[in-house]
Order: sequence, then structure tokens, then C-alpha cells
Amino acid sequence: MYLYNSATHKKEEFKTHTPGRVEMYTCGPTVYHFAHIGNLRSYIMEDALEKFLRYEGYDVNRVMNITDVGHLASDADTGEDKMLKGARRENKSVMDIARFYTGAFFDDCAKLNIKTPDVVQPATGLIDEFIKVVSGLIEKGYAYAAGGNVYFDTSRLDRYYVFNDHDEEDLAVGVREGVEEDANKRNKNDFVLWFTKCKFEDQALKWDSPWGVGYPGWHIECSCISMKYNGEYLDLHCGGVDNAFPHHTNEIAQSEAYLGHPWCAQWFHVHHLNTNSGKMSKSKGEFLTVSLLEEKGYDPLAYRFFCLQSHYRKGLVFSWENLDNAAGAYHKLIKRIAALTGTDGGVDEEAAAQMKEKFLAQVGNDLNTSMGITCLYDVLKAPVNDVTKRAVLADFDRVLSLSLLEKAAALREKEAAQARTAGADGFTVQGEGDPAIDALVLQRAEAKKAKNFAEADRIRDELKARGIEITDVPGGAVWKRL
Ligand code: AMP
Ligand code: ZN
Repeated sequence: MYLYNSATHKKEEFKTHTPGRVEMYTCGPTVYHFAHIGNLRSYIMEDALEKFLRYEGYDVNRVMNITDVGHLASDADTGEDKMLKGARRENKSVMDIARFYTGAFFDDCAKLNIKTPDVVQPATGLIDEFIKVVSGLIEKGYAYAAGGNVYFDTSRLDRYYVFNDHDEEDLAVGVREGVEEDANKRNKNDFVLWFTKCKFEDQALKWDSPWGVGYPGWHIECSCISMKYNGEYLDLHCGGVDNAFPHHTNEIAQSEAYLGHPWCAQWFHVHHLNTNSGKMSKSKGEFLTVSLLEEKGYDPLAYRFFCLQSHYRKGLVFSWENLDNAAGAYHKLIKRIAALTGTDGGVDEEAAAQMKEKFLAQVGNDLNTSMGITCLYDVLKAPVNDVTKRAVLADFDRVLSLSLLEKAAALREKEAAQARTAGADGFTVQGEGDPAIDALVLQRAEAKKAKNFAEADRIRDELKARGIEITDVPGGAVWKRL
């Protein structure tokens, strides 16, 4: 495939260190709150990328961290640990918060058909490894202890800013806005690898280290977790675009300094989900979650469809109107697929291969998922039998993960159930979704129509004994459990 590489600012042919194998790393969530649908935009697009690579035949090893310590409020080295903030907000321990929001994150992922990575590693589970790498950086002269903390020395690098076209001065100012200087740093861009001194004495999570009791900086966790589970050569590193600087820049600095060779070849950054008032962010406190979408009656997969309709390298504006449009299109698509009921003939292999080739070329052009969706409509219009259409749609859904055939089958079942509850003269039964009760209510109506009142009463009594009340309404009956 061709993929834009934010380290080289070019679209390039995707290559891997070991042919046929992709070592892939994704920055995971900071689990101090629910993931918002902006975070999940990043995870949806990264999931589609992983699945496309698998679809192309790669063996993918995908690793993700869970940030449960060390991510400070500023993304740089100042402010409070976000986990501590979450714990205080809910009057719980940091580990309780971490456990709860990690579970909530994977529940959301499941609803959005986002596959769980092959390796998921919470930062607090690998502290010894971080200490080993920080010690190695000190030995190699890339890190120094000052004022109780350990810092990475950026002046030792030939090249520091990799993702940005801005000059160094601009970035340094941008990062430092409203943030106090740390007098221990030798260079303005140096960053903390290990904290033992911080102004928050109540830091909940602390470990012994050669530099005193403390906790790791945020950036070191991703380098160490990736080096441990992906090996020394990483093919593909993913994250939201806000991670590019300083987080990913610092990951490259410390990984390459430690390993002594280039580390990650390709960088994939997903642009933000924005609202009219700017980037959706957890720290602003007001954000949308998958549960909220569900409460409002949206299928989470309609949100996945919404994300896939736009390119990952463009900002995406969220509004209810935009989501309604996507949800409408998704449900119409499912309806059209549900109508593909033909069973005559086998799969037209030649036509299927042609459609697949087009899908590979379209989506393989910098993960163009919106063209992938267009390919679905092309299948619906293609002059082939329903068996072929269903097979090709299922095949494309290995990447898009919109549960196309499952949702279509569920829709057909729902319509059949509605038809079962409708009598010959249009008599309809509304209830609580139990076909056996619907059928009894219908039998009672038919008995009444045939003037068999004894039978009608018998059914009413039977339902009453089961705790069900029937109310006759014009054109039908409504039942409910008491
Ligand atoms: P966090 O939980 O804050 O560490 O963020 C988890 C992931 O979501 C990171 O890859 C971020 O870059 C990404 N992210 C944060 N805000 C947004 C947003 N508004 N749109 C898309 N991705 C985001
Ligand atoms: Zn990371």
C-alpha cells in the first residue's frame, strides 16, 4: 500500500523490516476518564489500517500501551499527573480509576468493532524495563540527573524535530506557553525520563529506582513497551496528530539513542475530531462518549461509518447533523444489503476478483476508507448475482468492520417478526419483543373475530397469569409486562 509518512512528509510505498511481517505500535489511552469519540476516531482509523494490512496478507503484531502513570497535564513535563486528577475527581484510588477506565475503553472499542491489539501493556506493569532503558541512556551519555529527576539531553542529537516544518524556536514557545521553566534542564527541549522530585508530594504511584523513589516520564513508556514487544525495528507507529510533538519526537530521540540505529520507519498520525469550538479533548471536561451516542439512539457503528467516510489526514467536524447524515446513509446501506436474498448460482470468482482488486487499489492509496465505502455501493450496483455480492461485501467488511451482513440479517429478522405479528387484515401487535407472546395476542384477536369469545378470554387469562396485560387499540393490540 501507499501511506503518508509524517516523518518524511511524503506518501510512500509501505515497506517492512522483515518481509511479510508488520511490527505496529499504537499509543494507547490515558485512562483517567472515558475515551471521547475524538480519541476513538484515532483508534477506528488505526484499526482500519491494521485490518487493511492483514487483508493485504501481512502478519501484523500490534502493540498498545495503557497510560496509567506519568502523563502530566501539559503533555510536557509540568502539571499534575492526569491519573491523580481522575482519582481525586472520583474519590478513588489511582489503580481503581485505571482498572475502570481501561475496561470502559475496551467496551467502547468492542462496540465500534475495534479489534483489541495483540499486546496491551499498562505502563505500571513494566517499570523495571523503563529503569533499565533510562540507566542505559545515562551510561551512553544521553541522559543526566539534575535536581532529583533524570532528563534526556537533546543537545546530544544531530536531529530532534522530525515531524514539523516549523522552526525550533516556534515549537519551543508553543510548548512552553503558560508553563513554568524547569531550571534543572540543560537545554530547553530536554525532557524528563524519571521523576523523583515533583511539586506533587501526593503522587500516588511510586517505585524505587537508582535515582530515588519516583515514577517514569510519559514518553519513555512507549519506547520501552515497543522495544520489548515489537523488537528493535518498528515498522509503523500510530497516534493522534497531537502526539507528534512532543511525545513522538521524544520517543524517537530516546529509542534511537538507546538502540544506536534508526528505530521506526513509518509514522501514521490521525487528525482531530473537532467541534465548532475546536478540538474535542478530555481535559476540557465536556466531551462526547460512545455511551452518550447510544443513549441518544445512535448505533455506535454509525459513528464508525461517519469516521470511515472521511480521510484520516483531514480534520473531521462533528455535529449532530453530520452524524445524522452518516447514520441515515449507514442504515440505508444495510437495508439495501438486507434485500440481497437471492441464493441462485455460485460466487462469480472473476467478477469478485476484479472488485477486490479495485478495493485494494483504492483503500491502499493512503488508507482511503471513503473510497472503500464507495466500493460497497459499486458492489450493490454490479451486474452479478446476490451470492457474489454478499461474498464480496463480507470480504471488504474484513477491513471496514461495519457488521454489514450481520446487521442486514438482523434487519431481515426484525422485519419478519413484524410481519409475523401482523394479521391478515393488518391487525398489529406491539409488545416488548417476545415473538411467542405476540403470537398469542394475535391468536386471541383471531378468536374474537371468529366470535369464539371463550377462547379469546382463555388466552387473555393465560397471558394475565404470566404477568402480561393486553390493551386493545385501533387496528391492533399492545401488550406489556406488569
Ligand atoms: P489520550 O487518552 O489523551 O492519551 O489520547 C488517546 C489518543 O487519542 C491519542 O492517540 C491522541 O492523539 C488521540 N486524540 C486525542 N484527542 C483527539 C481528537 N480530538 N481527535 C482525534 N484523536 C484524538
Ligand atoms: Zn505513546
